[in-house]
Amino acid sequence: MDIQTIGIVGAGQMGNGIAHVMALAGYDVKLTDVSEDALRAAIEIIDGNLERQVNREKISAGDKAAAMARIQTTTTLTDLGKSDLIIEAATERETVKQAIFEDLIPHLKPETILTSNTSSISITRLASRTDRPEKFMGFHFMNPVPVMQLVELIRGIATDEETFKACADVVEKLNKTAASAEDFPAFIVNRILMPMINEAVYTLYEGVGSVKSIDSSMKLGANHPMGPLELADFIGLDTCLAIMNVLHDGLADTKYRPCPLLTKYVEAGWLGRKTQRGFYDYRGDEPVPTR
Ligand code: NAD
Repeated sequence: MDIQTIGIVGAGQMGNGIAHVMALAGYDVKLTDVSEDALRAAIEIIDGNLERQVNREKISAGDKAAAMARIQTTTTLTDLGKSDLIIEAATERETVKQAIFEDLIPHLKPETILTSNTSSISITRLASRTDRPEKFMGFHFMNPVPVMQLVELIRGIATDEETFKACADVVEKLNKTAASAEDFPAFIVNRILMPMINEAVYTLYEGVGSVKSIDSSMKLGANHPMGPLELADFIGLDTCLAIMNVLHDGLADTKYRPCPLLTKYVEAGWLGRKTQRGFYDYRGDEPVPTR
């Protein structure tokens, strides 16, 4: 199937990044959100990020202008009906995603491929509530989308080969690399990454190391570009906790038990960079460890 038009639902952190890379690769993009403000902010962010790429001579001013011209925004979900591929990147709540697919389906072409950027919800379960489980799959970008090379492609139990191939071709056109993952909790990257972050929080909780010593140990001792606690703050501690809960519930193994200290930070509203406080305090000029 030849994909030319891409509908993106949700213009948040991930949706705007996906719109950016798709438009730059030459796809016509329709971006929708329930919030006018989110759409306005997304266009500003995409413009700023493309401008940075122009300044670094990664793309030309003409490439930027052409990409911006390929993005249309709308608050009407059903305007996405004519798209060849839909990527849902709305808030990580199953009821929200289910309602989006229900509202969209009567307006879609029979051949439209439906995908979700979900980090943790079962693709098979989302697919089973649509009219096209064979044309449904997970299209999981990493954050920040314009920078990260990987896209996990997740087959639901019913996903057909043609759908997988069409999505893999899109990833290739983006100059990114696809990893094929089966539909089990948290897929590949988060299945491995989150237990490591959770273990780093246990290491802090048990007093084995301080925030600083844990992060520098993993940076200098394991060659990680960021320490696990610094990375947790970047991802969002609420997101880390939610993914640990998905692993714990979905795999029913105590090795995925979220660290009580992670829960405590989330209860305090110390969610990392986005709230200016997590394992580090970002309110001053330099991040300062909070433990
Ligand atoms: P976000 O909160 O930044 O953005 C979500 C957007 O969805 C908001 O702008 C919100 O207004 C919009 N939205 C909510 N309900 C909607 C609806 N019914 N119709 C249209 N828009 C609606 O969230 P995000 O971080 O961009 O995450 C989006 C998805 O991407 C989630 O499924 C998340 O699991 C996944 N994801 C996130 C990351 C990450 O690091 N943030 C990485 C990979 C995947």
